[in-house]
Amino acid sequence: MIQCVFCNTDNVKEVKTDYTRNIKGRRILVKNVPALYCESCGDYFYHAKVLRQIHEKIDKSLSKPENLDVYDYSNEISEELYALVR
Ligand SMILES: [Zn+2]
Repeated sequence: MIQCVFCNTDNVKEVKTDYTRNIKGRRILVKNVPALYCESCGDYFYHAKVLRQIHEKIDKSLSKPENLDVYDYSNEISEELYALVR
């Protein structure tokens, strides 16, 4: 059973949510990001591996001239990695 790191309850479930960041004046949106949601705190927690993957992706896109500010995690990220964070 997964516990919330803040309130130590196990009201935590696996969900998919949107992840947004403002980087260098651009708003980045990543859809369908696997995360944990604590029903007691009302907070989302992202897996470290998922965040690393997202930020690598964002870093690459920031160096390109064309803007691609919306990603779909389930399309962009390999099934293999997804299995790792489950
Ligand atoms: Zn909590």
